Amino acid sequence: MPARDSFHSVMRIGPVQIGTHRDRTGRTAHAAVCTADRCGWSADYSSRTAAQLAARTHRCTVR
Ligand SMILES: [Zn+2]
Repeated sequence: MPARDSFHSVMRIGPVQIGTHRDRTGRTAHAAVCTADRCGWSADYSSRTAAQLAARTHRCTVR
């Protein structure tokens, strides 16, 4: 899981955590972060809905 300042976890979908954090412009960004070992997938989205959709469709490369 990448180090994110002030990452605030909101919910979890499978191995993926959804949370919010401040992006570099100071706005709230919605992040989806996979917590599976050696996966390391993460992405930022402008809305929580988009982050949740990405979490549901994420396919881990590791099992
Ligand atoms: Zn994954």
